[in-house]
Amino acid sequence: TGPISVQDLSEKIAVKSQKVVQLLESLGKSVTAYSILDVETSELIITEMGHKSQRVGLEDLEARWWGVKSKTYEDRPPVVTIMGHVDHGKTSLLDALRETSVASGEKGGITQHIGAYQTRLKSGKQVTFIDTPGHEAFIRMRERGSAVTDIIVLVVAADDGVKAQTIEAIRHAKTSNVPIIVAINKIDKTTAKPDVVRSELLNHGVVVEKMGGEVLDVEVSALTKKNLDALIETILLQAEMMELTCSPDTKARGTIIESHMRKGHGHVATVLIQNGTLRKGDIFVAGLLSGKVRMMFDAEGHVVQKATPGQPVEVLGFSRSPLSGDRFMSLDQESQAREFVEWKKSQALSDDSSEVTSNLPENSSDLA
Ligand code: GDP
Ligand code: MG
Repeated sequence: TGPISVQDLSEKIAVKSQKVVQLLESLGKSVTAYSILDVETSELIITEMGHKSQRVGLEDLEARWWGVKSKTYEDRPPVVTIMGHVDHGKTSLLDALRETSVASGEKGGITQHIGAYQTRLKSGKQVTFIDTPGHEAFIRMRERGSAVTDIIVLVVAADDGVKAQTIEAIRHAKTSNVPIIVAINKIDKTTAKPDVVRSELLNHGVVVEKMGGEVLDVEVSALTKKNLDALIETILLQAEMMELTCSPDTKARGTIIESHMRKGHGHVATVLIQNGTLRKGDIFVAGLLSGKVRMMFDAEGHVVQKATPGQPVEVLGFSRSPLSGDRFMSLDQESQAREFVEWKKSQALSDDSSEVTSNLPENSSDLA
């Protein structure tokens, strides 16, 4: 096993925890039933107690708790982050896209901003937009080893061209291996020069189709709403090529997008569900926290009972605020949640905590 408390270890090998404490005391170690033992010590105890020991890494823990092999694989909505230079129209584009979705029928219902939303298109397909992160949060998440974004929509103003933050975004996309779709915005302007944008992008290694490359680009106007359907179609086309799948019948897993305190609700976190289904009452771990889903809201602020892959939801039930980029996972029992958190804490103490995250699979698509 991995690091484990005396109590949990005793339970596992079916001996009284007092016996384990006594054994350790005889070896000159002062412990209580709640002390956390490292792998070597617990192996020693297991051997002493006549059991065969076996090292279990995080993958094994995960396989044990979440590895319920799924038979159903379904298409998963792509998760899209919009990036680009300041004033090139990121916010305008997000708002315009939100309005063109079917959800606009209930526009009055959009009462809160949760940093992510999902558009339901007339075709029935869905696209998830991560709203607030922008560059900083993207970097923070990447540093913490989280992969939430499937596609980056790079907004470049047709009258301004490639600028510092455009280049920065290109770098993020390349280092994290996320495909780019270029939205050449403000095409309504008389000063728009989309071909200049294309050749400037070429100079920075982004070769769009018209320049003989493979990167998809669309000329749009967030102001007049020109070609927004084409942009969505292009996102769906890119997603199709990536064959994004999920298994909704497994335990939920996802990533914390952001969290904050809210009067009357306590600590509230926006969780992007990346695989499985999260239900009210589910037990979860996130970072070094564990809890139980007390209530969930969708992006429009409606109470929901469950959340499926690709869906961003607000989750109530945290004792403290988790961090952006923390992985979120639901599991069957509170004891598992406790064990997992203890294990992670001991990992974080014993070595570089980044190792803990780097042990985890890069994204949800490689999980059964
Ligand atoms: P952000 O900083 O990238 O989020 O950019 P904003 O969405 O705040 O837009 C910056 C400015 O550009 C605002 O004044 C917008 O009204 C304007 N803008 C955004 N999109 C368009 C567009 O398609 N056409 C025109 N003419 N102006 C736009
Ligand atoms: Mg903005």
